Amino acid sequence: MCKGTGWSRWWLGVCLACALEPGRGAGGEPALEAERVYVIRKHDTLSRIGREHGVSVKDLAKHNRILPADKIYEGQRLRIPSAPKPTEAKEGGLPAEVIAAIDKAEVVAGRWQHVVIHHSGTESGTLKGIDEYHRDRRRMEHGLAYHFVVGNGHGMPDGEIAVGTRWTEQLDGGHLASAELNQASLGICLIGHFDRQKPTAQQWASLKALLRALLARCQLELEAVKTHQQINPIHTRCPGRRFDTKLLLRELEGDGGPAGPPAAP
Ligand SMILES: [Zn+2]
Repeated sequence: MCKGTGWSRWWLGVCLACALEPGRGAGGEPALEAERVYVIRKHDTLSRIGREHGVSVKDLAKHNRILPADKIYEGQRLRIPSAPKPTEAKEGGLPAEVIAAIDKAEVVAGRWQHVVIHHSGTESGTLKGIDEYHRDRRRMEHGLAYHFVVGNGHGMPDGEIAVGTRWTEQLDGGHLASAELNQASLGICLIGHFDRQKPTAQQWASLKALLRALLARCQLELEAVKTHQQINPIHTRCPGRRFDTKLLLRELEGDGGPAGPPAAP
């Protein structure tokens, strides 16, 4: 475990990953909490830093004894609290920040007709990673092709919903092989490879809560929920053969019995 705060440990914009290791404090007593340290870069915002580390702005501010609205400056050191431990899947519950982001966007009536579900096709991932990939490698002007990303505990906290700028700025999606469909389709990407495994319980619960909130916000019916495979003009396996679309729709309708994903294989 990292002992102190020696200058050599500070790198601009780099998490001190070694501090992530659980361990004991200098005195031999258990460390209170694994903690990371982040040095603020130009143009950083608390919300972006929080999003990248799976911590809410409120928790981030509280942990650093500042106010969420306080100015931050380049070179300032922020202590990043441990991401909250996964809790029991909460049916219907969305974090306040996500609800606020969904409500805040200026949704024009009739703007969206579909909400399309994807998997990342990778074992791990983050909004930031996919955003960079789409921006730099796929040359997409607005980066992240989806409007939301749901973590699986590898890269992002399990079940965490990250809100992309395509939602906050109400931009077209970039996730379907048709410009026309992209104009009318919200995209949700679940991290994971669902040909290999099913979504986690947290992801499943978060997806349902997110879908319910989006259907309400955009005044859509359940029929608007599609998988990439169902709607894309070109064949795709996305979101994978282990993603149970029928179960999802049944549970969204409210007659699907106990919440949660199908049992592990
Ligand atoms: Zn897809």
